[in-house]
Amino acid sequence: MTHFKALVVEETGDKQFTRRIKERAVNDLPDGDVLIRVHYSSLNYKDALSASGNRGVTRKYPHTPGIDAAGIVEESRSDSIRIGEEVIVTSYDLGMNTSGGFGQYIRVPTQWIVRLPPNLSLRQSMIFGTAGFTAGMSVSRLRENGIMPDNGEILVTGATGGVGSMSVAILAKLGYSVAAVSGKRDEKAFLTELGAKEIISREEASDTSGRPLLKPRWAGVIDTVGGQILETAVKAAKSDAVITCCGLVASPNLSLTVFPFILRGISLVGIDSQNYPAHPRQVIWQKLASEWRPADLEKMAKEISLEALNENIDLILQGGQKGRVIVRLTE
Ligand code: NDP
Repeated sequence: MTHFKALVVEETGDKQFTRRIKERAVNDLPDGDVLIRVHYSSLNYKDALSASGNRGVTRKYPHTPGIDAAGIVEESRSDSIRIGEEVIVTSYDLGMNTSGGFGQYIRVPTQWIVRLPPNLSLRQSMIFGTAGFTAGMSVSRLRENGIMPDNGEILVTGATGGVGSMSVAILAKLGYSVAAVSGKRDEKAFLTELGAKEIISREEASDTSGRPLLKPRWAGVIDTVGGQILETAVKAAKSDAVITCCGLVASPNLSLTVFPFILRGISLVGIDSQNYPAHPRQVIWQKLASEWRPADLEKMAKEISLEALNENIDLILQGGQKGRVIVRLTE
């Protein structure tokens, strides 16, 4: 194989970008220890930012996005990774400024590679993808900080999205009582099936009173949206609650007083899945593949071809996706 198919994003003018499926040469991939034939990738919000010219994610174009890839090793200069192994690559620089999983081949450093855990297929690993891994990290942070099912209700925001839906499903599997914030009024059945006990509209989840503290309700929060919904969740957190923060689809801004922190002892914990170290990364993948695996994992994703990526990128930018979108790279 000397050439392969990939989605290529090109800059055509001032802040104008096009997305097309093109033939690319394997020789043009960046240098790296391991060449991987990608079988599946997945669509995350960050991919849509890269695919629409967001310089905070991708500095140089033309570029092939895709922060997730699962596939089989075809060439290896690494002592630890063998030809024929099934592997997952997510995070680090993949799909940002390194050619990513929206192409049939990637070449990456050994340190970026996670061996596919037992009992998980390449396809299933991409149903999780970065979104599922980030949900796993967020749940892990709640638990490390002592938030167990007995502590009380957990709020998940952006609940029908990738990180949100995975968080709802993992928490429900572990026996937590989950309330889900969603803007999609017609997706109550989807969220209930994932295990949410209550669905809250974005309006109800956005306090406009300006009060520094609200009636305490949440023992924990997994926030994926930022802005006013996160502010409201912080103000409505119970004493010693733990709140994780990973996303900014609503807003990157936060306007808060110190009162929830100094009067209720709550903790706001940042999630950076991109730079999470290799060993604990492998541990989270193992948990996702076993005791944290949602009961209906297959129902949480739709599968698309490379050709269908364009319209799905537009949809995720509008906040319109539900669950996970996996991309099949093999023909
Ligand atoms: P998705 O688009 O799949 O999910 C986001 C969800 O948020 C939407 O489905 C929607 O759910 C809700 N939403 C969208 N727009 C708004 C809005 N204006 N106000 C309130 N809610 C909104 O994205 P991902 O799950 O892939 O990513 C979520 C966020 O997490 C992104 O900002 C992403 O960059 C970030 N992220 C961060 C990581 C990290 O390591 N820090 C890793 C992975 C993701 P609903 O309709 O149900 O409300």
